[in-house]
Amino acid sequence: MRDRFSPGAEVVVRYITRLGSTVGMTWPFRVVRDDDDLLALWLPRGSLGRLWRNSPGQARELVEGEWRRDTLRLMYPGKPYSVWLFWEGEPRRFTTYYVNFEEPFRRTPVGFDTNDHTLDMVVAPDLTWTWKDRDEFEALGVSGHFSMEFSETVEAASREVLELIESGAAPFDGSWVGWAPPSDWTVPVLHPRWQEEPPTPWSRREWAYPLPYR
Ligand SMILES: [Mg+2]
Repeated sequence: MRDRFSPGAEVVVRYITRLGSTVGMTWPFRVVRDDDDLLALWLPRGSLGRLWRNSPGQARELVEGEWRRDTLRLMYPGKPYSVWLFWEGEPRRFTTYYVNFEEPFRRTPVGFDTNDHTLDMVVAPDLTWTWKDRDEFEALGVSGHFSMEFSETVEAASREVLELIESGAAPFDGSWVGWAPPSDWTVPVLHPRWQEEPPTPWSRREWAYPLPYR
């Protein structure tokens, strides 16, 4: 296994495309914790990353984008989801847990690789919650871009997360709500090799995405 990152280290999280396994959307983070059971990453408002821009009649391209919300991203080794905490406003106030279903992360020399599973959950501080993009996720199953087995695996993961929410278990127990970055941490910047470092495709890609899909 590659070395762990120290607290404060700047890393990138890259979304590796399903079609072609190239480097797609990428954001810089600072490492809060890189432990056996938890990877916690900080992405403050104002961070500059890369995201897709679709222009009519043109191939999509990666362009610079700015992150809008102070975010702590909790990732769990081997798990197909991460939980993001958002703080907004002035004074800074915790507003949302965001559950992002995604490929279990892979470690790279510059950070971590994953990709999005489309489905998300939005959870309020009082733990009431809603789906996000469930219609889009289901359409990808119907069209065959997501295999039936894969879709069911994501559904099972969502049930697992729902149990955590309904029982108020970590990370929905409020234990991270009061977290704040050390005062001397500056906004992270993209590693100079964010695009050059070879992408690490998900080992189960062919099983999950039987049709070419980006
Ligand atoms: Mg998502």
